Formats: sequence, structure tokens, C-alpha cells
Amino acid sequence: MFKKVLIANRGEIALRIHRACSEMDIETVMVHSTADADGMAVRLADESVCIGGPMAKDSYLNIPAILTAAAITGADAIHPGIGFLSENADFARMVEEHGFTFIGPTPEHIEQMGDKAVAKKTVKNLGLPVIEGSNGIVDTIAEGMLVAEEMGFPVLIKAVAGGGGKGMKIAETAEEFENSFKMASNEAKVSFGNGDVYIEKYLKAPRHIEVQIIADMHGNAVHLGERDCSIQRNHQKVIEEAPSPALTDAQRKAIGELAADTVRSMGYRGVGTIEFLYEDGQFYFLEMNTRLQVEHPITEIVTSIDLVREQIRVAAGEKLSFTQEEVKFRGHAFECRINAEDPETFAPSPGKITKYHPPGGFGIRIDSAIYEGYTVPQYYDSLIGKIIIRGSSREGCLMRMRRALRECVIDGIKTNLPLHARILAEEKFKQGDFDIHWLEKECLAKK
Ligand code: ADP
Repeated sequence: MFKKVLIANRGEIALRIHRACSEMDIETVMVHSTADADGMAVRLADESVCIGGPMAKDSYLNIPAILTAAAITGADAIHPGIGFLSENADFARMVEEHGFTFIGPTPEHIEQMGDKAVAKKTVKNLGLPVIEGSNGIVDTIAEGMLVAEEMGFPVLIKAVAGGGGKGMKIAETAEEFENSFKMASNEAKVSFGNGDVYIEKYLKAPRHIEVQIIADMHGNAVHLGERDCSIQRNHQKVIEEAPSPALTDAQRKAIGELAADTVRSMGYRGVGTIEFLYEDGQFYFLEMNTRLQVEHPITEIVTSIDLVREQIRVAAGEKLSFTQEEVKFRGHAFECRINAEDPETFAPSPGKITKYHPPGGFGIRIDSAIYEGYTVPQYYDSLIGKIIIRGSSREGCLMRMRRALRECVIDGIKTNLPLHARILAEEKFKQGDFDIHWLEKECLAKK
């Protein structure tokens, strides 16, 4: 097992990884930007190294500085966390070339799944159902138009390098197509340096359901059930739950096994998530994330498996500590993402937290690195924490979530806590009767 792990990330996820290491008696090195010197993850780590200025390109994306920090501190492995370099195949390759273990899949798998058009072809060949669309990249507007007219509108134009909902545009009609195509491609070029796009049928009322998988280097691959992430705004997840209220046990087992079989045939290692859209009883592959996900705690709650611990174990070459048969699902879990943002306009709201009282008590887990007096920097993602709720039933979870939201105090900055309370009051949410458009088109549209 590793003696020292360098954590190339920040905020709540850096702290989450530190906690897993700490329980495994592994020392941690936290690299950080000048803006994060006061971060709780930096304070709790065994060692810390400042690697650059506040802008991500100068610090959390600064590969030479991260590798140098690993060499100086004598780390054996690097955990990339979520975002930043976590799905950067070149980084994974360099980490290994410099003699450290990358806590994640092989660079080849990151590359293969990082190009969404290649990913779609790969999993289709392995038997996963995919959304109807172009056969890979579409080079010209004319070619795209042909595909779209054949399938029928509306269609979605998506960047092969896409992430975070960027480089994705709907064309409702043939008239809109040219403009949407150009917008998607330009946005992708600006955001990812790659303007390549592909086309998919736009599903009108799907749910977002994703399957958590984990595989070791000994040919074992298992699934840990699904998460329903249909409560979204701007293609960004807001609330997630496990299990999905839309699936039967038989459907859960079938899609889970299909996902595990897929990664087993790929020879994949590490944790990963296969995302699907689900409509009218059918699953359609969306993408595979070759890293830990923000919403991983709800899977931990319903399976009682520490995913980060297992991720570190398999990266060190150990066998999975459980078989598929040993994975037992119990109870229900929700996660509310707490963002430092205006609950009405959604504008980021960085600044100093003047008062902080997190909810607690039975069935509540808080994954966050904030504290009273902490200043949320303006440079990064607005996620500042997650309230994770455990309950024996979905209904019980909802009552507990309501109680947790009432208890939670975060003053000095604006947060989306009122948005969560608003969603929770909705009958459709309580009934589990929603799709990926419900939050924006129904709940928020009401005013
Ligand atoms: P990203 O990597 O940018 O997050 P995804 O492919 O994972 O992009 O899609 C993000 C979200 O966009 C999905 O959760 C869903 O809400 C929406 N979406 C993607 N593809 C489709 C589609 N074909 N039809 C309808 N909605 C879609």
C-alpha cells in the first residue's frame, strides 16, 4: 500500500480523499494555490505545498509544479480528485512516467472515454444501448443536416470533448440547425480547444440515471447500483438520489450488470461512472466518467462501501475487497449540492462566511471544507459542500432533508439552500415524478 499520496485538488473533494487516506494510515500531501492557503484540506493534510497562483492554469492544472511537489515530498501516488486534471490522459501518463502511481484508470482508457464519439462507438460495440445519432464526428453543416433530417428534429449537437454541459446546443427545427451547429462548435473550440461535434436525437423527457462501477487489475469488475441525477439546471446536477425511484429491482440489476460487463471487457481499472438517459423503459448511453463523481457519497450510503478507499486499494494493485454478490443495497440516500451562488440569479457568490452551522444528527453526512471565517475564493467552481441524507425509505429521507435544510446556517455569502427548500416543497419531487427538464421548465418556471 502507498505510504504517501499527493492530492492534486482542492475543497471538499480534497478533504474527502484526505479522510480516506488518513483512515488507511497513508500520509497526505496537499498541493494548493495561493488562494487556498487557508483551506481546511490544506490545514488537515500531513504536508502541503503551494504550487502557484489562484488561476487554475497556474496551480491545479500546472503539471510540472504538481510533479515537482510529488518528487520533493516523496509521494508514491497522485490522486487527481474531480475536475482539473482528473480526466487528462497526458497528465496520467506523465505521472506514471515519473514513477508515481496515478490513482485512476490507464491513460488509454481516459483518452478513449474522453472523446465522446469514440466512447459511444466503443460501448455500442460492447453491447450498451446508445442514443440514435451521427456515426461519429460530423464535419460539415450539410452533413449534419442530413443526419438531423433523417432522424427528425429536435436534435442535439454535442462536442466530442464536451463536459459540464458546454458545447451542447439544441436545434428544434431545420431552420435553427446551422446556427446551433456553429454555436456548439465555437463554444467547444473556446472551452476545450477542439471544435469537433456529433449529433444525437434530443430526448424530450428522459431521466439521468448513472451506474457506479469499480474494477481492479485482476479482472474483477462490479457495479454499485445507480444514482438518479435528473434534478438539473443548465445540464448541471443539483440533487441526486439512490436508488432511482423510476427503476424496478430487475431493471437495476440488468443495467448494473451490463455496465459491469462493459468495463470488464474493456479491461478497465479503478472507479468509473456510466451515465445513461432513461426514457420509456429504455436506457441510452450518454458518457463514461473515468473518475470519482461529486455524488459518490449517496452510493457509499446505500452500499456501506467506502468508494475512495476501494479506489486507492485497487490503484495499489489490490483485489476488490468484495464480490458482486456481497454488494447489498440498503435504504435510500439524497445529496443536495450546496453552491455559493445567488438562489434566484445563480450568479456566483464568493466571499467570507461569517456564520456557519452545519446540520447534524442521525442520518446526516456533510462533505464540505468550509468553516466560519473561511473566504470562498472567486476563482473556482461554486460547489462548497454537500448535504448527504440517509434514511430507511425515500419518504423518511425527504423529511430528514427538510429538517437538515432548516438547521443549516451559512451567512456572509449567498447559497442555493433556498433553492433546495423550494424543490423539496414540490409535489412532483416528493413523488419522484420528474425528468431532466422538470427543474427548469416546471419548478423554476413557476416563480
Ligand atoms: P457533459 O459531459 O457536458 O455533462 P453529457 O453528455 O453528460 O454532457 O450531458 C449532460 C446533460 O445534457 C445530460 O444529463 C442531459 O441533461 C442532457 N443531454 C445530453 N444528451 C441529451 C440528449 N440526447 N437528449 C436530451 N438531453 C440530453
